[in-house]
This record gives sequence, structure tokens and C-alpha cells, in this order.
Amino acid sequence: MKNDRSWTEIDLTNFKSNLSKLKKKFHPEAEFMQIVKADAYGHGAYQIAKKAIECGAVSLGIANVQEGILLRYQGIKVPIIILSPSFDNEIDLILENDLIPSVSTVEFARKINEKGVCKIHINIDTGMGRSGIPYNIALENINDIRKLKNIEINGIFSHFSSAEEDPEFTKLQSDRFEQIISKLDILPKYIHISNSSGVITFPNKFANLVRLGLLSYGIYSNVEMKTKINLKPVMTFKSRITQIKSANKGDSIGYNKTFVAAKSMDYAILPVGYADGYDFLLSNRGKVILNEQVCNIVGKISMDMTAIDVSKISAPKVGDEVILLGGSNENISAENITSLYNGLSYELLSQIGRRAKRYYKENGKIIDSSPLLRRDFMPKDLSDNKLGNIIETAIEQRVHSKEIASLVHEDILKRLFAEKDKDIHYRQNFKHSIKFENSEEFPHYYLTSTDLSFNKKLQNDHFSVACANNETVLEKYFLRNDVEYRWLLDNSIDLNEMFFNITSVKVNNIELYHEMKIADGCIEIKCYHPKLKDLVGQVLDFSISTKTYYPKSSHQLSVYIIEMTQGVNISFESDLKNVEAVPIFSGKSKFPKIIKSNNKISISTNKDEWVFPTSGVVFVY
Ligand SMILES: *Cc1c(COP(=O)(O)O)cnc(C)c1O
Repeated sequence: MKNDRSWTEIDLTNFKSNLSKLKKKFHPEAEFMQIVKADAYGHGAYQIAKKAIECGAVSLGIANVQEGILLRYQGIKVPIIILSPSFDNEIDLILENDLIPSVSTVEFARKINEKGVCKIHINIDTGMGRSGIPYNIALENINDIRKLKNIEINGIFSHFSSAEEDPEFTKLQSDRFEQIISKLDILPKYIHISNSSGVITFPNKFANLVRLGLLSYGIYSNVEMKTKINLKPVMTFKSRITQIKSANKGDSIGYNKTFVAAKSMDYAILPVGYADGYDFLLSNRGKVILNEQVCNIVGKISMDMTAIDVSKISAPKVGDEVILLGGSNENISAENITSLYNGLSYELLSQIGRRAKRYYKENGKIIDSSPLLRRDFMPKDLSDNKLGNIIETAIEQRVHSKEIASLVHEDILKRLFAEKDKDIHYRQNFKHSIKFENSEEFPHYYLTSTDLSFNKKLQNDHFSVACANNETVLEKYFLRNDVEYRWLLDNSIDLNEMFFNITSVKVNNIELYHEMKIADGCIEIKCYHPKLKDLVGQVLDFSISTKTYYPKSSHQLSVYIIEMTQGVNISFESDLKNVEAVPIFSGKSKFPKIIKSNNKISISTNKDEWVFPTSGVVFVY
């Protein structure tokens, strides 16, 4: 932060505490959707989404497809609802990225129905007068939509126009909505109407989902609400002094001489302006906090600079931190700052920090930060094709020949991804942990449990796990891409279920059935479940756990990575002394991090770092 001209601190501990206070205000059986549109009101959609999910959010609310694509790219898996209407030409992206559109017309539902199977939330306008099906024709429209065979109505919702200030109108909207719901013979999974203010001012029993936005960020939409719930602001916006100057009586400060010194005074220049999201209307009105004291803004706010009166501050210095918004000082709460120019907290928050880096805090400590210019960041599409292009371009840049690059690339594909199937397979979040325990039954062997988990696109409604006690036999299983896990047994061990078996195999928490077959010197376990059929083509969480035995006399154990993998963590646990890990990694991360504790040693890369096949680690004991 020392080098930042301005920055925001996002206090995730406050966010969590706001959520738990809000949760006490709604129906105990209701669930909540975290609203993260507009980059979570400027707080950073990814980090807020992660924390909200950890605190129980069942879904996320966003404004448009692009926000959804970014969250998916960042690895967010929960349902994401696009609250604003989408365009017809966005339907493909909605389906590809597994987003849930809101539907405000039967025509739009029909257009989706033509393209593919999709969950939707139907939006009903009960008086907001914005998007949504007008309430008086909602029932017949819902019934029309219900006839579309590719459409699953996952939710029906409406939106309050004045939940924070007009109880009568809010009740009217709520009654209109309840009327419609009460006439439906089949209810969708989710019924929702309350935004965060609605949760406080108008609790209701018929809805089973609420949508939390502004209040969860610790900002009140109305002063009276402060008596009903005690929330803490999540965002603090800060800058530091770059220059200190003096003005004599009659000198003017800033553009158009709107401030003229009435007597001699000291003032300081802050390197933030309206281009940083600090509103122009705060010119000559705004306040900031320096050394715990309030200072007034003097003159017009420029694009990149702002002047503050520091006459009352003892010994202000260049580099001193200045708080522009948030924190515990009421003078600069979003509510009070925006009241100075009749502005809106929603607006101020979502425009702040265009240039500022965000720092995330938990329990008073900085735990993460997000880069500058994040609003220009376009998600890289890591579809198989694009991944191929990336590899090809990388080679091209190194060998300075397009032709060679494309040949080498072809060759990589052929070698790695088997004969006929050129579809690139890759894994993410690869975790493999192996644990040795002493075995009473077989004192010369360690009872060995292995837990493997990763994310990968499901290719088929079944896959296999293979285990052989002979390297040549196992080799041919490395070529088969329906095999997700291979294990080499010591050749002193018999091939049977007592010495190698699956203890659990799951895909997205569905416990799969498994069936063992022993033939041609190999144990082959087929893992399957009827539910997998509908999940083919999606990136899913795989986890495979096994029990087996490993000879004590071997003194080494190897783990291989045989597919392109992003983010690797391999660990080995035992009560052995002096275990060493020798990673042999190809890819950018040649030297993964090795962490040793008492009985465990683990090797890991950053979660976004790619590791190429033919990497691995040898544990020596
Ligand atoms: C933005 C939005 C919300 C969140 O409203 P808050 O007042 O910030 O709680 C809820 N529902 C819809 C449809 C929205 O667009």
C-alpha cells in the first residue's frame, strides 16, 4: 500500500458479521442470494462471492452475462442468476456458462427453449415499473412458459421499488406477488421478492429466498434502519498526501477559483480525483479523515487530484494516510458523504476504486489483493481449442516459426491425448494425498490410503480406475483416457480387492457405484452412476479414495501427473523420519513449494499455474 496513490480495503470479517446479522432477520427456513452485480458494488465480485458462499449463500445475483462469465472463469460453481434482462444473442453464452437468466417475456423463454435446456427465474413486475412481466398477465404467461419442454422454472421473483421508505406500496407489491404465487399449482424451487432493505422493513413468510445487496456491504439505504440493525461498512477508501502547501489570504485553490482563502492556511494535495471514483460533486463539500480529524475538501475535485484543508492538523506530512470513505468515522460513512450532494450510496460505492487496488482484510490482516485496471480484464477462455492456441503461440514465440510451432503442437496433442481423440483433457485443483500407516496384518507393508481430487470435464457417464503390479501392463492404461486413476502395486503383492480397492469415488458429491474386474494382470474398477449422463460435458469435482498396501522396503513412492494440470498439491503423510520430496516438474512452475511439517510433506504450485504432463514427485523415505 506504500506505493498506492489510492486503495480500498475490503473487510471480509465485517462482511461476514453483516451477513450473520441479516440472517437473523429473515425467515429461518429462507435462504439467501448474494448480490454481486457491478463487481459486488465495487467490493470485488470474486472475493465477495467466495466469502458469501462460505457463509451459506445458495446463489449469486449479477446484472449481465459478462459478469457471470468472469465468475465462472474464476471458478465459482454455485447457481448464478442474471437479474437484468438479457439479449437474444447472449443465450448461447448463458447456456455455455451455466448461468440462469431472468425472463421477463414469453418470447425470450421461447428463444431459450429453441437453444437448449435451461433453468430460469421468471421476473414479475408488481409495481417497480422496470423489467418483468406485468403482474396482471403473469399467471397466463407463467403457464405458457411452463409448456416449454427445455425450460425449467427454478424461481419466480419480483422486486420492491421502495422497500426502505414506503411500507404501504411495499405491501401492495408483496400482496400482488403473493396472489400470483398462491394461484400456482406447481411451485418453483425459489420464490423471492425482498432486497436487503425488504428483509428489515418487510419480512414475509411466503418467500423462501432473499436477495442481499447494499446492507450486506454495511451501508444503510435509510437512516432509520440504523436503529433496527447494526452493520459495519465493508469498504474503506484511502489515499495519502503527496504535497503540502500554504495559501495566503485571497489565494485561490483549484480549477475556476471556486475556493478563495479567507486567511492564510495550509492545505494538502491528495492524488485522487473523480477518475478514481471520488465524486466531482464533493468539490468544496466533501470531508476526509487525517490523523483521526476531519478535514474539508477545498476547491473543485480534479480528474486526478483533490485539495484538503490541513490548517487544524498538527504536523501533517507527505505520505500520511487519509481516509476518504468508510471505516468507523461516521463523518465519512457512505450515507453521510452522499448526503452532502444528494447522491446515492449505491452509486458512490460502485464507482469507487476505478484505479485503486483492492486489499482484502480478514481479522485485521491483509489476506489478498486484486490487480489494478480489473475492469478491463477479459476472462481468457480456456476451452480446449483456446488452450491449444495458447500452447501453439507459446511455442511459436520461442522457436520463431509458425510452422514448427504447429507441428510441435500437433505432436504434443498426439502423444498426450491419445490416438483418435484430439480433445485436450486438463485438470484443475489437483490434490493427491497419500498416507502410510502401520499395518498389524501385514507388518512388512504400510496400509496406504490415497485421496485424489480434481476438477475436470466429464467425458462419459463412467470412467475407470486401474491397478497393476507390473509396469508394462499398467502402461497401456496410461493411453486410455477413460481411466482417471492408475496405481502401480509392488510386484510382491497379489492382485485382489484386499490389496487394492476404492473406499469412495464421487463426482460432484454423487457417490458412484463401482465394479471390479480382474483380468490380464490388471484390476480395473468401473465407476458409474445413472445421474452422470446428464452431467457429461460439464467441469465437475472428482474425488477418488483408495486403500492399498505399500512395501516398507521400497523406500520410495512416485506420483505422476499425466494430464495438463492447473494447480497442484501433492502430499505424503506418515510417521517416518527424514522423508524427502523430489519434484520433477515441467511447465512454468519447475520449483514447486515444498512444505514440511511433523509427519507430512507437501508439494504445491499456485492454483493458477499450469503443470505439464510428465511431471511428478518422488517421495524418498
Ligand atoms: C440490485 C438488486 C438487489 C439488491 O438490492 P439491495 O437494495 O442492494 O439489497 C436485489 N434484487 C434485484 C433484482 C436487484 O437488481
